[in-house]
Amino acid sequence: MTQTFWGPDFAQLEATDPEIAAVVLGELERERGGLQLIASENLTSPAVLAALGSTLSNKYAEGYPGRRYYGGCVEVDRAEAIGVERAKALFGAQHANLQPHTGSSANLAAFAALLQPGDTVLAMDLPHGGHLTHGSKVNFSGRWFATVGYHVRADTELIDYDEVRELALAHRPKLIICGATAYPRLIDFAAFRTIADEVDAYLMVDAAHFIGLVAGRAVPSPVPHADVVTMTTHKVLRGPRGGMILCTEELAPRIDKAVFPFSQGGPLMHAVAAKAVALREAAAPEFAAYARQVIANSRALTAALAEHGMRPVSGGTDTHLALLDLRGIDVTGAQVEARCDAARISLNKNAIPYDPQKPMTASGIRVGTPSLTTQGMGVDEMQLVARMIATAAHSDPDDPSGAAALREVASEVLDLVGKFPAYPR
Ligand SMILES: *Cc1c(COP(=O)(O)O)cnc(C)c1O
Repeated sequence: MTQTFWGPDFAQLEATDPEIAAVVLGELERERGGLQLIASENLTSPAVLAALGSTLSNKYAEGYPGRRYYGGCVEVDRAEAIGVERAKALFGAQHANLQPHTGSSANLAAFAALLQPGDTVLAMDLPHGGHLTHGSKVNFSGRWFATVGYHVRADTELIDYDEVRELALAHRPKLIICGATAYPRLIDFAAFRTIADEVDAYLMVDAAHFIGLVAGRAVPSPVPHADVVTMTTHKVLRGPRGGMILCTEELAPRIDKAVFPFSQGGPLMHAVAAKAVALREAAAPEFAAYARQVIANSRALTAALAEHGMRPVSGGTDTHLALLDLRGIDVTGAQVEARCDAARISLNKNAIPYDPQKPMTASGIRVGTPSLTTQGMGVDEMQLVARMIATAAHSDPDDPSGAAALREVASEVLDLVGKFPAYPR
């Protein structure tokens, strides 16, 4: 029997829904026609996109491989079982759950597996780099749990491990979380483990941002230290938009039940299959080279931005991202975000630790190199990118010469991405 992929046919979308077809094309052109420096984004592969655009989206598969609530799961069972084995092998984990729809859903499930409402959680404070799901009052984590935030030190801008220990001893949390959205440095997982053991707390590492670097063996793994590791699959890891959980054998039944049936219904089997594809890609030697290059580029970009007067928070970076304090060049994060946007450069304003500005203004920006590195750029290009960001940062769009400068940067961006195309034609 010859097997033929009945794949996504763009002509069908154009014929059925020209409005949405235009959006899909517009986004492709936006990704091709600019510099994507948002640290939580990447450009996923054609293989992952093919799995996402498949008929696996049709299948209901509540439950887990071999124990589903629906018939007809023979094919999707294979996809999920293969994905789980790949995750366990790649990360050296005892158990993996590939069903969380997103990183936030993975965190909700981890909370549900380990805690009762009202229990105390110790996690990094949001303005210092933590995530909404680590205790923000606008999120389930802060609404249903008693959360205590730890910080970075004002002098070094590194996690204050002494404060973590003091807060742990004072509040006796049932769960301690490390892992952040805007922390450029390595985290001392062993130190967190020691503190968690001292107060008999679970340790959860939210590796959403950096798990791709772990997969590429470019940074140390949290897996040997943590009870539970939650993550996204779409950041440095470069898979489909989604979440995933690794845990010990002992916690496996609780984690699985917390994902389904506690917090989710049927899994997105096209996404689960696409996660399996991404895990295969991430296990290849090319991905290890990619992960190392992401960090080399991030270091080069950060050093070059520092030369343009933007101060790297904590003095630099060990990862794919950096946080830059803009107060030395007298612009705000919001201004630089808008100016860069006008020059075809996507990055985000970001609060810096102890930021005097409101979050919607912010004194900093966050930049990351996963997407540029996927496009094949190296440290030489990072010098150019830093100069473009610096020029845009100083260009006031309301001033005729500033507006001209922004147009000039935008055309330089087009030249650069012409040499390093995303999704080459
Ligand atoms: C991105 C991120 C998440 C959430 O991921 P979503 O897929 O957006 O829900 C959770 N935790 C951290 C630390 C993150 O950076």
